[in-house]
Amino acid sequence: MQKLVDGVHAFQAKYFATHKSLFRNLAERGQHPETLFITCSDSRVVPNLITSTEPGDLFIVRNVGNVVPHVTVPGGTAAAIEYAVEVLKVTSVIVCGHTHCGAVNAILNPETMDGLPFVKRWLAQGERVRAIVAERYSHLDEAGKMLAAVSENVLVQLENLRAFPNIADRLERGELAMSGWVYEIASGDVFEFDPVIGQFGPMSPPSIPPPKVWPGV
Ligand SMILES: [Zn+2]
Repeated sequence: MQKLVDGVHAFQAKYFATHKSLFRNLAERGQHPETLFITCSDSRVVPNLITSTEPGDLFIVRNVGNVVPHVTVPGGTAAAIEYAVEVLKVTSVIVCGHTHCGAVNAILNPETMDGLPFVKRWLAQGERVRAIVAERYSHLDEAGKMLAAVSENVLVQLENLRAFPNIADRLERGELAMSGWVYEIASGDVFEFDPVIGQFGPMSPPSIPPPKVWPGV
């Protein structure tokens, strides 16, 4: 606990002290995040750190296994999705899974949830992921199945998102972009789903500002 108290003081003395106008603007003008970022509660996944973003940039929903419950199931995740889309008018939604995910491991190995009734009930929503892995990836070893499950879990959540009428509307009108990511803890790499080839691949290279064109050149 003392570590956190010291951390608060360090935040105030360093980051806050050098970003006062950012915080003043956020307080006075409210939040206008462009992205709804849905990820796992895992302590090793730190959205602002891995995306180099500032306070106010990401509207974050975290839960065990970065799950988007079916649209008919009310709850905190559905409320956050509705608020992000209807009120904040985010223009992108990212579902970010990660390697070594305990939730995905539990989906593949339900016996690890014995004695954890709430976890078991929550991750019953992962049944579809378990079925996909059993059907398509049974030839892989345990590590391969785990990686496949992490990736398929992200895709299932993107599908669940499309079932929200407001999301479907915005996608159709081109007002919303949706991406599936997998963050690899050991390397810091982020893999993005490419719907054209139907696979996850390394994230596209950073955008480079266009070269300046001088008059007369
Ligand atoms: Zn996780």
